[in-house]
Amino acid sequence: MTRVLIVGGGPAGMASAIALAQAGVQSEIVESSHDWRPGGIGIALQSAPLRATKQLGIFDDLLRVGRPHRVIDMCGADGRRFVELPQVNVNDADDPPFLGMARESLHEVMAAAVARAGVAVHLGVTVADVSAADDDVTVMMTDGRTERFDYVVAADGANSKMRSRMLRDAPELSFSGQVIWRAAASTPTGLERYTMMIGGPIRLGLVPLPDGRLYLWMLDSTIGPDRPPRDQLLELFQERMSRFGGHAPAVAQQLNDASQVDFRALNWLIVPPPWHAGRVLLVGDAAHTTTPHIAYGAGLALEDAVVLGELAGSGLPFDELATALAARRFARARLVVETSLQLSRWEQEPGPPNPAAGRLIAETMATLAAPV
Ligand SMILES: Cc1cc2nc3c(=O)[nH]c(=O)nc-3n(C[C@H](O)[C@H](O)[C@H](O)COP(=O)(O)OP(=O)(O)OC[C@H]3O[C@@H](n4cnc5c(N)ncnc54)[C@H](O)[C@@H]3O)c2cc1C
Repeated sequence: MTRVLIVGGGPAGMASAIALAQAGVQSEIVESSHDWRPGGIGIALQSAPLRATKQLGIFDDLLRVGRPHRVIDMCGADGRRFVELPQVNVNDADDPPFLGMARESLHEVMAAAVARAGVAVHLGVTVADVSAADDDVTVMMTDGRTERFDYVVAADGANSKMRSRMLRDAPELSFSGQVIWRAAASTPTGLERYTMMIGGPIRLGLVPLPDGRLYLWMLDSTIGPDRPPRDQLLELFQERMSRFGGHAPAVAQQLNDASQVDFRALNWLIVPPPWHAGRVLLVGDAAHTTTPHIAYGAGLALEDAVVLGELAGSGLPFDELATALAARRFARARLVVETSLQLSRWEQEPGPPNPAAGRLIAETMATLAAPV
Protein backbone atom coordinates (compact mmCIF):
# COMPACT_ATOMS: atom_id res chain seq x y z
CA MET A 1 0.00 0.00 0.00
CA THR A 2 1.21 3.51 -0.82
CA ARG A 3 2.33 5.43 2.29
CA VAL A 4 2.62 9.20 2.35
CA LEU A 5 4.01 11.60 4.94
CA ILE A 6 2.25 14.97 5.12
CA VAL A 7 4.27 17.80 6.65
CA GLY A 8 1.95 20.44 8.12
CA GLY A 9 -1.54 20.14 9.60
CA GLY A 10 -3.14 23.29 8.17
CA PRO A 11 -5.95 23.29 5.57
CA ALA A 12 -3.64 21.93 2.84
CA GLY A 13 -2.23 19.11 4.95
CA MET A 14 -5.55 18.06 6.46
CA ALA A 15 -7.37 18.22 3.11
CA SER A 16 -4.57 16.19 1.50
CA ALA A 17 -4.90 13.52 4.19
CA ILE A 18 -8.67 13.32 3.65
CA ALA A 19 -8.36 13.18 -0.16
CA LEU A 20 -5.60 10.56 -0.04
CA ALA A 21 -7.66 8.39 2.31
CA GLN A 22 -10.57 8.63 -0.13
CA ALA A 23 -8.16 7.36 -2.81
CA GLY A 24 -7.09 4.45 -0.62
CA VAL A 25 -3.69 5.95 0.18
CA GLN A 26 -2.46 5.75 3.76
CA SER A 27 -0.92 8.93 5.20
CA GLU A 28 0.18 10.45 8.47
CA ILE A 29 0.69 14.10 9.41
CA VAL A 30 3.57 15.70 11.28
CA GLU A 31 2.64 19.13 12.65
CA SER A 32 5.34 21.26 14.24
CA SER A 33 3.11 23.11 16.71
CA HIS A 34 2.30 21.39 19.98
CA ASP A 35 -1.24 22.71 20.43
CA TRP A 36 -2.34 22.62 16.72
CA ARG A 37 -4.33 25.83 16.93
CA PRO A 38 -5.02 27.68 13.66
CA GLY A 39 -3.59 31.19 13.31
CA GLY A 40 -5.91 34.09 12.44
CA ILE A 41 -9.51 34.78 13.39
CA GLY A 42 -12.06 34.33 10.62
CA ILE A 43 -11.98 32.81 7.18
CA ALA A 44 -14.31 32.78 4.19
CA LEU A 45 -14.69 30.04 1.63
CA GLN A 46 -15.79 31.01 -1.86
CA SER A 47 -18.19 28.90 -3.89
CA ALA A 48 -15.64 26.92 -5.95
CA PRO A 49 -13.67 25.86 -2.86
CA LEU A 50 -17.00 24.90 -1.26
CA ARG A 51 -17.42 22.58 -4.25
CA ALA A 52 -14.08 21.04 -3.25
CA THR A 53 -15.35 20.58 0.31
CA LYS A 54 -18.27 18.56 -1.09
CA GLN A 55 -15.74 16.21 -2.67
CA LEU A 56 -13.85 16.03 0.62
CA GLY A 57 -17.09 15.15 2.43
CA ILE A 58 -17.02 18.13 4.83
CA PHE A 59 -19.45 20.55 3.16
CA ASP A 60 -22.43 19.75 5.41
CA ASP A 61 -20.30 20.10 8.54
CA LEU A 62 -19.03 23.48 7.31
CA LEU A 63 -22.59 24.66 6.67
CA ARG A 64 -23.31 23.99 10.34
CA VAL A 65 -20.42 26.19 11.53
CA GLY A 66 -20.45 28.88 8.82
CA ARG A 67 -22.57 31.91 8.07
CA PRO A 68 -23.66 32.30 4.44
CA HIS A 69 -23.23 35.64 2.69
CA ARG A 70 -24.92 36.11 -0.68
CA VAL A 71 -23.85 39.72 -1.20
CA ILE A 72 -21.14 42.04 0.06
CA ASP A 73 -22.13 45.63 0.84
CA MET A 74 -19.49 48.01 -0.50
CA CYS A 75 -19.56 51.24 1.50
CA GLY A 76 -17.70 54.49 1.82
CA ALA A 77 -15.83 55.33 5.02
CA ASP A 78 -19.05 56.89 6.37
CA GLY A 79 -20.78 53.51 6.17
CA ARG A 80 -23.08 54.46 3.33
CA ARG A 81 -23.48 51.65 0.79
CA PHE A 82 -22.63 52.55 -2.80
CA VAL A 83 -22.97 49.11 -4.37
CA GLU A 84 -24.04 45.57 -3.54
CA LEU A 85 -21.77 42.81 -4.84
CA PRO A 86 -23.60 39.52 -5.41
CA GLN A 87 -21.32 36.50 -4.87
CA VAL A 88 -20.85 33.87 -7.59
CA ASN A 89 -22.46 30.48 -6.89
CA VAL A 90 -21.13 27.43 -8.76
CA ASN A 91 -23.04 24.90 -6.65
CA ASP A 92 -26.75 24.16 -6.16
CA ALA A 93 -29.04 27.21 -6.15
CA ASP A 94 -29.69 26.82 -2.40
CA ASP A 95 -26.01 26.54 -1.51
CA PRO A 96 -24.28 29.61 -0.07
CA PRO A 97 -21.96 31.28 -2.55
CA PHE A 98 -19.71 32.45 0.29
CA LEU A 99 -19.37 31.02 3.78
CA GLY A 100 -17.75 32.93 6.66
CA MET A 101 -16.60 31.06 9.77
CA ALA A 102 -14.16 31.17 12.65
CA ARG A 103 -10.75 29.69 11.86
CA GLU A 104 -11.16 27.24 14.75
CA SER A 105 -14.44 26.02 13.24
CA LEU A 106 -12.78 25.18 9.92
CA HIS A 107 -9.96 23.51 11.82
CA GLU A 108 -12.32 21.46 13.99
CA VAL A 109 -14.38 20.25 11.03
CA MET A 110 -11.26 19.25 9.11
CA ALA A 111 -9.52 17.67 12.11
CA ALA A 112 -12.63 15.55 12.78
CA ALA A 113 -12.60 14.36 9.14
CA VAL A 114 -8.88 13.54 9.43
CA ALA A 115 -9.61 11.48 12.54
CA ARG A 116 -12.52 9.68 10.80
CA ALA A 117 -10.13 8.84 7.95
CA GLY A 118 -7.89 7.12 10.49
CA VAL A 119 -4.94 9.45 9.82
CA ALA A 120 -2.45 9.80 12.69
CA VAL A 121 -1.39 13.36 13.56
CA HIS A 122 1.95 13.73 15.38
CA LEU A 123 2.01 17.08 17.18
CA GLY A 124 5.22 18.92 18.00
CA VAL A 125 7.03 16.93 15.32
CA THR A 126 8.74 17.95 12.11
CA VAL A 127 11.20 16.63 9.57
CA ALA A 128 14.86 16.46 10.59
CA ASP A 129 16.24 14.91 7.41
CA VAL A 130 15.06 13.59 4.05
CA SER A 131 16.85 11.15 1.84
CA ALA A 132 15.19 10.26 -1.46
CA ALA A 133 15.85 7.13 -3.49
CA ASP A 134 14.37 6.16 -6.87
CA ASP A 135 11.24 4.53 -5.48
CA ASP A 136 10.83 5.85 -1.96
CA VAL A 137 12.02 8.42 0.53
CA THR A 138 13.45 7.93 4.01
CA VAL A 139 12.48 10.60 6.51
CA MET A 140 14.07 11.18 9.88
CA MET A 141 11.65 12.94 12.20
CA THR A 142 12.34 15.07 15.25
CA ASP A 143 10.58 12.52 17.50
CA GLY A 144 13.41 10.10 16.74
CA ARG A 145 11.55 7.95 14.21
CA THR A 146 13.05 7.12 10.83
CA GLU A 147 10.49 5.81 8.33
CA ARG A 148 10.19 5.05 4.64
CA PHE A 149 7.39 6.58 2.61
CA ASP A 150 6.46 6.49 -1.06
CA TYR A 151 6.48 10.29 -1.10
CA VAL A 152 6.13 13.38 1.08
CA VAL A 153 3.46 16.09 0.73
CA ALA A 154 4.91 19.39 1.96
CA ALA A 155 1.97 21.41 3.30
CA ASP A 156 4.01 23.49 5.73
CA GLY A 157 2.69 26.87 4.68
CA ALA A 158 4.05 30.13 3.29
CA ASN A 159 7.38 29.90 5.14
CA SER A 160 7.81 26.26 4.11
CA LYS A 161 11.07 24.76 5.31
CA MET A 162 10.49 21.79 3.02
CA ARG A 163 10.43 24.20 0.06
CA SER A 164 13.74 25.78 0.99
CA ARG A 165 15.23 22.35 1.73
CA MET A 166 14.12 20.58 -1.47
CA LEU A 167 13.56 23.31 -4.10
CA ARG A 168 16.50 25.59 -3.56
CA ASP A 169 15.77 27.67 -6.70
CA ALA A 170 12.19 28.41 -5.68
CA PRO A 171 11.43 32.12 -5.26
CA GLU A 172 11.24 33.69 -1.81
CA LEU A 173 8.13 35.30 -0.30
CA SER A 174 7.70 38.95 -1.32
CA PHE A 175 6.05 41.72 0.69
CA SER A 176 2.94 43.05 -1.09
CA GLY A 177 3.22 46.58 0.35
CA GLN A 178 0.14 46.11 2.54
CA VAL A 179 -0.45 44.87 6.07
CA ILE A 180 -3.61 43.55 7.67
CA TRP A 181 -5.04 44.20 11.10
CA ARG A 182 -7.49 41.63 12.43
CA ALA A 183 -9.69 41.27 15.48
CA ALA A 184 -12.61 39.24 16.81
CA ALA A 185 -15.61 41.07 18.25
CA SER A 186 -19.37 40.74 18.65
CA THR A 187 -21.59 41.71 15.73
CA PRO A 188 -23.29 45.03 16.50
CA THR A 189 -27.09 45.11 16.37
CA GLY A 190 -28.31 45.77 12.84
CA LEU A 191 -25.22 44.51 11.04
CA GLU A 192 -26.39 41.53 9.00
CA ARG A 193 -24.29 41.60 5.86
CA TYR A 194 -20.61 41.28 5.09
CA THR A 195 -19.68 44.96 4.87
CA MET A 196 -16.58 46.39 3.25
CA MET A 197 -15.76 50.06 3.81
CA ILE A 198 -13.28 52.03 1.75
CA GLY A 199 -11.41 54.80 3.52
CA GLY A 200 -8.67 55.89 1.09
CA PRO A 201 -5.58 53.71 1.66
CA ILE A 202 -7.34 51.72 4.40
CA ARG A 203 -10.17 49.23 3.89
CA LEU A 204 -12.26 47.77 6.65
CA GLY A 205 -14.13 44.47 6.46
CA LEU A 206 -16.81 43.50 8.97
CA VAL A 207 -17.81 39.87 8.52
CA PRO A 208 -20.70 38.60 10.68
CA LEU A 209 -20.06 34.99 11.74
CA PRO A 210 -22.45 32.53 13.43
CA ASP A 211 -23.47 33.00 17.08
CA GLY A 212 -23.19 36.79 17.04
CA ARG A 213 -19.45 36.74 16.47
CA LEU A 214 -17.72 39.17 14.11
CA TYR A 215 -14.49 38.94 12.16
CA LEU A 216 -12.88 42.33 11.53
CA TRP A 217 -10.08 42.85 9.02
CA MET A 218 -8.42 46.08 7.98
CA LEU A 219 -6.15 46.26 4.93
CA ASP A 220 -3.66 49.06 5.36
CA SER A 221 -1.27 50.62 2.84
CA THR A 222 0.04 53.32 5.19
CA ILE A 223 2.45 51.42 7.40
CA GLY A 224 5.51 49.18 6.87
CA PRO A 225 5.66 45.40 7.35
CA ASP A 226 7.15 45.38 10.85
CA ARG A 227 4.77 44.82 13.73
CA PRO A 228 4.55 48.04 15.79
CA PRO A 229 5.69 47.82 19.42
CA ARG A 230 3.00 46.35 21.66
CA ASP A 231 2.48 49.63 23.55
CA GLN A 232 1.57 51.42 20.29
CA LEU A 233 -0.50 48.68 18.67
CA LEU A 234 -3.92 49.53 20.09
CA GLU A 235 -3.51 53.27 19.55
CA LEU A 236 -2.46 52.82 15.91
CA PHE A 237 -5.34 50.42 15.34
CA GLN A 238 -7.92 52.70 16.96
CA GLU A 239 -6.63 55.74 15.09
CA ARG A 240 -7.35 53.88 11.85
CA MET A 241 -10.74 52.64 13.06
CA SER A 242 -11.74 56.22 13.91
CA ARG A 243 -11.74 57.05 10.19
CA PHE A 244 -14.81 54.85 9.69
CA GLY A 245 -18.48 55.43 10.48
CA GLY A 246 -21.46 53.09 10.09
CA HIS A 247 -21.07 50.07 12.40
CA ALA A 248 -17.31 50.64 12.85
CA PRO A 249 -17.47 52.70 16.10
CA ALA A 250 -19.67 50.04 17.77
CA VAL A 251 -17.01 47.47 16.93
CA ALA A 252 -14.03 49.67 17.81
CA GLN A 253 -15.35 50.31 21.32
CA GLN A 254 -15.18 46.55 22.06
CA LEU A 255 -11.44 46.50 21.41
CA ASN A 256 -9.48 47.96 24.28
CA ASP A 257 -6.44 45.74 24.73
CA ALA A 258 -3.48 45.15 22.40
CA SER A 259 -3.88 41.39 22.84
CA GLN A 260 -7.16 41.62 20.88
CA VAL A 261 -5.41 43.02 17.80
CA ASP A 262 -3.51 40.90 15.29
CA PHE A 263 -1.11 42.60 12.87
CA ARG A 264 0.66 40.96 9.97
CA ALA A 265 2.43 41.86 6.73
CA LEU A 266 0.88 40.41 3.58
CA ASN A 267 3.28 38.40 1.45
CA TRP A 268 2.94 36.50 -1.79
CA LEU A 269 4.70 33.76 -3.71
CA ILE A 270 4.06 31.59 -6.73
CA VAL A 271 6.44 28.71 -7.34
CA PRO A 272 6.77 27.91 -11.04
CA PRO A 273 6.57 24.15 -11.76
CA PRO A 274 8.00 21.75 -10.91
CA TRP A 275 6.47 21.67 -7.44
CA HIS A 276 8.42 18.54 -6.54
CA ALA A 277 11.99 17.37 -6.01
CA GLY A 278 13.41 14.28 -4.30
CA ARG A 279 9.95 12.69 -3.86
CA VAL A 280 8.67 15.76 -1.97
CA LEU A 281 5.65 17.60 -3.45
CA LEU A 282 4.54 21.09 -2.43
CA VAL A 283 0.85 21.93 -1.95
CA GLY A 284 -1.08 24.86 -0.46
CA ASP A 285 0.68 28.03 0.64
CA ALA A 286 4.05 26.27 0.34
CA ALA A 287 3.55 26.35 -3.45
CA HIS A 288 1.41 29.50 -3.78
CA THR A 289 0.89 32.15 -1.13
CA THR A 290 -1.69 34.78 -1.94
CA THR A 291 -2.77 38.01 -0.30
CA PRO A 292 -6.40 37.70 0.89
CA HIS A 293 -7.96 40.18 -1.58
CA ILE A 294 -10.31 37.58 -3.09
CA ALA A 295 -10.33 35.27 -0.02
CA TYR A 296 -9.01 32.27 -1.90
CA GLY A 297 -5.75 30.98 -0.34
CA ALA A 298 -7.30 28.19 1.72
CA GLY A 299 -9.62 27.60 -1.21
CA LEU A 300 -6.61 26.83 -3.40
CA ALA A 301 -5.27 24.48 -0.72
CA LEU A 302 -8.56 22.54 -0.64
CA GLU A 303 -8.62 22.32 -4.41
CA ASP A 304 -4.98 21.14 -4.54
CA ALA A 305 -5.94 18.29 -2.23
CA VAL A 306 -8.92 17.23 -4.34
CA VAL A 307 -6.70 17.04 -7.43
CA LEU A 308 -3.99 15.22 -5.45
CA GLY A 309 -6.54 12.62 -4.34
CA GLU A 310 -7.82 12.18 -7.88
CA LEU A 311 -4.30 11.64 -9.25
CA ALA A 312 -3.29 9.37 -6.37
CA GLY A 313 -6.39 7.26 -7.03
CA SER A 314 -5.35 6.74 -10.64
CA GLY A 315 -2.17 4.99 -9.48
CA LEU A 316 0.34 7.21 -11.30
CA PRO A 317 3.99 6.85 -10.33
CA PHE A 318 5.19 9.74 -8.12
CA ASP A 319 6.99 11.82 -10.79
CA GLU A 320 4.00 11.69 -13.13
CA LEU A 321 1.57 12.43 -10.29
CA ALA A 322 3.60 15.43 -9.10
CA THR A 323 4.08 16.77 -12.63
CA ALA A 324 0.37 16.36 -13.38
CA LEU A 325 -0.63 18.08 -10.14
CA ALA A 326 1.42 21.20 -10.84
CA ALA A 327 0.24 21.20 -14.48
CA ARG A 328 -3.41 21.08 -13.35
CA ARG A 329 -2.99 23.66 -10.58
CA PHE A 330 -0.37 26.23 -11.62
CA ALA A 331 -2.45 28.50 -13.89
CA ARG A 332 -5.31 28.65 -11.39
CA ALA A 333 -3.00 29.37 -8.47
CA ARG A 334 -1.16 32.04 -10.46
CA LEU A 335 -4.49 33.66 -11.41
CA VAL A 336 -5.47 33.92 -7.74
CA VAL A 337 -2.06 35.23 -6.63
CA GLU A 338 -1.73 37.75 -9.49
CA THR A 339 -5.32 39.01 -9.28
CA SER A 340 -4.95 39.50 -5.53
CA LEU A 341 -1.63 41.27 -5.98
CA GLN A 342 -3.04 43.56 -8.69
CA LEU A 343 -5.92 44.53 -6.38
CA SER A 344 -3.39 45.17 -3.61
CA ARG A 345 -1.32 47.41 -5.91
CA TRP A 346 -4.35 49.40 -7.00
CA GLU A 347 -5.34 49.88 -3.36
CA GLN A 348 -1.89 51.33 -2.70
CA GLU A 349 -2.30 53.99 -5.42
CA PRO A 350 -3.39 57.43 -4.23
CA GLY A 351 -6.83 58.65 -5.26
CA PRO A 352 -10.24 57.01 -5.56
CA PRO A 353 -10.62 53.22 -5.93
CA ASN A 354 -9.55 51.95 -9.34
CA PRO A 355 -12.72 51.35 -11.37
CA ALA A 356 -11.11 48.31 -13.07
CA ALA A 357 -11.05 46.38 -9.77
CA GLY A 358 -14.67 45.20 -9.94
CA ARG A 359 -14.23 43.95 -13.48
CA LEU A 360 -10.99 42.11 -12.60
CA ILE A 361 -12.67 40.37 -9.64
CA ALA A 362 -15.69 39.39 -11.77
CA GLU A 363 -13.49 37.99 -14.56
CA THR A 364 -11.32 36.06 -12.11
CA MET A 365 -14.31 34.59 -10.30
CA ALA A 366 -15.84 33.56 -13.64
CA THR A 367 -12.60 31.74 -14.56
CA LEU A 368 -12.38 30.11 -11.14
CA ALA A 369 -15.96 28.84 -11.52
CA ALA A 370 -14.64 26.27 -14.03
CA PRO A 371 -14.05 22.80 -12.56
CA VAL A 372 -10.53 22.27 -11.16
C1 LIG B 1 -4.91 37.80 6.64
C2 LIG B 1 -5.27 36.58 5.87
C3 LIG B 1 -6.60 36.31 5.59
C4 LIG B 1 -6.94 35.19 4.84
N1 LIG B 1 -8.26 34.98 4.56
C5 LIG B 1 -8.59 33.92 3.78
C6 LIG B 1 -9.95 33.69 3.44
O1 LIG B 1 -10.86 34.40 3.87
N2 LIG B 1 -10.23 32.64 2.63
C7 LIG B 1 -9.27 31.79 2.15
O2 LIG B 1 -9.60 30.84 1.41
N3 LIG B 1 -7.97 31.99 2.49
C8 LIG B 1 -7.61 33.01 3.28
N4 LIG B 1 -6.31 33.22 3.63
C9 LIG B 1 -5.28 32.27 3.17
C10 LIG B 1 -5.22 31.03 4.03
O3 LIG B 1 -5.05 31.38 5.39
C11 LIG B 1 -4.05 30.17 3.59
O4 LIG B 1 -4.00 30.08 2.19
C12 LIG B 1 -4.18 28.77 4.17
O5 LIG B 1 -4.11 28.81 5.58
C13 LIG B 1 -3.04 27.89 3.61
O6 LIG B 1 -3.12 26.61 4.19
P1 LIG B 1 -1.79 25.74 4.32
O7 LIG B 1 -2.21 24.50 5.01
O8 LIG B 1 -1.11 25.65 3.01
O9 LIG B 1 -0.82 26.59 5.25
P2 LIG B 1 -0.99 27.01 6.78
O10 LIG B 1 -2.40 27.36 7.07
O11 LIG B 1 0.07 28.01 7.05
O12 LIG B 1 -0.68 25.68 7.58
C14 LIG B 1 0.64 25.17 7.64
C15 LIG B 1 0.71 24.22 8.83
O13 LIG B 1 1.99 23.61 8.82
C16 LIG B 1 2.59 23.71 10.11
N5 LIG B 1 4.03 23.79 9.88
C17 LIG B 1 4.77 24.85 9.49
N6 LIG B 1 6.05 24.49 9.35
C18 LIG B 1 6.13 23.18 9.65
C19 LIG B 1 7.18 22.25 9.65
N7 LIG B 1 8.42 22.59 9.32
N8 LIG B 1 6.91 20.97 10.02
C20 LIG B 1 5.64 20.59 10.35
N9 LIG B 1 4.62 21.44 10.37
C21 LIG B 1 4.84 22.71 9.99
C22 LIG B 1 2.00 24.99 10.70
O14 LIG B 1 2.04 24.97 12.12
C23 LIG B 1 0.57 24.92 10.16
O15 LIG B 1 -0.26 24.14 11.00
C24 LIG B 1 -5.94 34.33 4.37
C25 LIG B 1 -4.61 34.58 4.66
C26 LIG B 1 -4.26 35.70 5.40
C27 LIG B 1 -2.82 35.96 5.69
